Parts: sequence; structure tokens; C-alpha cells
Amino acid sequence: MLTAKPKHRLRLVKSPAAAPAATIAAAAAAAISPRTSEYYRRIEAYAHRIRGSEDINTIINILDEALTDTRALGAHPRSRTAPDRVQRTEREIEALQIELRQLRGLVHVDHLTGTLNRSGLDLSYKREAARADRTNSPLGVALLDIDDFKRLNDHHGHPAGDAALVHLADVIRRTVRPSDVVVRFGGEEFLFLLPDSATAQAARVLHRLQYDLNRHPLVYRGVEIPLSFSAGVAARRQGQARDAVISAADSALYAAKRAGKQRVVTADCN
Ligand code: GH3
Ligand code: MG
Ligand code: MG
Repeated sequence: MLTAKPKHRLRLVKSPAAAPAATIAAAAAAAISPRTSEYYRRIEAYAHRIRGSEDINTIINILDEALTDTRALGAHPRSRTAPDRVQRTEREIEALQIELRQLRGLVHVDHLTGTLNRSGLDLSYKREAARADRTNSPLGVALLDIDDFKRLNDHHGHPAGDAALVHLADVIRRTVRPSDVVVRFGGEEFLFLLPDSATAQAARVLHRLQYDLNRHPLVYRGVEIPLSFSAGVAARRQGQARDAVISAADSALYAAKRAGKQRVVTADCN
């Protein structure tokens, strides 16, 4: 499944949500800001460009340039900068690049559940739709919404609600195929992209998920809390726009709620 659990906390920022580009740029610029020597004047020019940058990719590219320049300066026979200083700067820039690359990955991940978030969906949908068109294969799209989640929060508290979301994401991870894409689409809504799955196959995945969830209920502080969901399933037609197929899945989800919840409805039989 194309989701990723954040593995470790970054030194640069605590979470991408709390890291607007300006914060990242300031931290990156500070990490390579000049000391006293002449040598750092060049580096200051890079720091200045980084401070003015708005996105992670631009900062990574500027750091690439700075690294190349730093290496060239350090290797210059007439360089008067102490080699250990050059090496230290190089190491700092490299470490920063690694953190920024990790951060760029985390930008697409929902921090509570470890599934993709909506910006992750943008990339995944384009990739999967292109693949479906290329291989002339179906792409199942399903929307799942937890039933009576507000009541769960009200009865057991918001942290129990959070635990329910994490638990559901874990069960989903164990149920779907590695190639399936799972996105936290909203508060208690998840969206699935199921490559090579027409509506009936996609519906089977959602049924299996409800079965697995019944077998592995959430246990929060020693109390078993039953969880159920409703789901709407659709399949993308060749060339069909993303919003159209998601809207079809959403209408099916709405029908599932109206029909009494805890069920899977396919777009075809709406
Ligand atoms: P329905 O069966 O019709 O879907 O009813 P519902 O109660 O699930 O839906 P409703 O839209 O009324 O309530 C959704 C609730 O989800 C309200 C909101 O507080 C809660 N929620 C959204 N995001 C989070 C979250 O991250 N953590 C927790 N604990 N609750 C959340
Ligand atoms: Mg909802
Ligand atoms: Mg709900």
C-alpha cells in the first residue's frame, strides 16, 4: 500500500503542517549562514536566495549549487579557507539536504494515520489514472466514512476518536494490496484508489475490510469500541476526470448512509 508512517522526527521542523516554506527557508539559511571569513561571503549569497524561497524543491536545488560551489572552493589550490571548515560546511549542507528530502516526502502524509493526505492524492491519482489509461485497465475509487463518529467522540472522548482513526488505518494497511493507494480524505473519511479493480472487485475489498474490522475491534483503555463504516464505490472510465469519479463514489456513499449505514454501495446500482 502506498502509505508511509513517518519514521523519525526531523531536526529541522516538528511537522510539515507547522513548517511553512518561510520557516524551512529560515532554518536552511541559518544552517549555512556566514561566519567571519571571506570564504563565507559566497555562502551568504546562497543563504539569501534560500531565505527568499517559497518551496522545498527550490531550496534543495539551491543547496545543490551551494554544495558544488563549496567543494570547488575547498579544492581550489589557492583557497585560504581551512579545509576542516569547508568539510564541516559540506557536511552541514548534506545533512540539511537529507532532512529536506525527507520533509518533502512527509508533506504528502497524514500525520495521525500515516496514510497519504490530499496532496498525496493529487500525485497518486495522476500516476494511477495515467497507468490505467496506458494499460487500458480499470481503476476502482472508493470513499469510506466512519459511522456515527461524532457519537464515538462524544461518548469516549476525542483521544479515543483519534485512536479509532489510527486503528482503522492499521486494519486498512493489513487488508489492501501493496499497490492500492489509501488517502485520508477528510476527518473520518478515507479514499481508496484500487488499480486493476472494477466496481465489483473494489466493493469486495471494502466488504473484506468491514469483516477484518469486526474481527479486530478497537480496544481503547481496556474497552472494546465497535467501529463500522459506510462506503461508496465507483470505477473510473477511460479519460474520466478525477472529480467526476470521486463524485460518483461520494453519491454511492451518501446512498449507503441513507440506506441505514454499515454497508457498501456501488455507483452502478444507485
Ligand atoms: P455519519 O454516520 O452520518 O457519518 O455521522 P458522523 O457522526 O460520523 O458524521 P459527522 O459529520 O456528524 O461527524 C464527524 C465527526 O468527526 C465530527 C468531528 O469532530 C470528528 N472528527 C473529524 N476529524 C477528527 C479527528 O481527527 N479526530 C477525532 N477524534 N475526531 C474527528
Ligand atoms: Mg464524514
Ligand atoms: Mg461519519
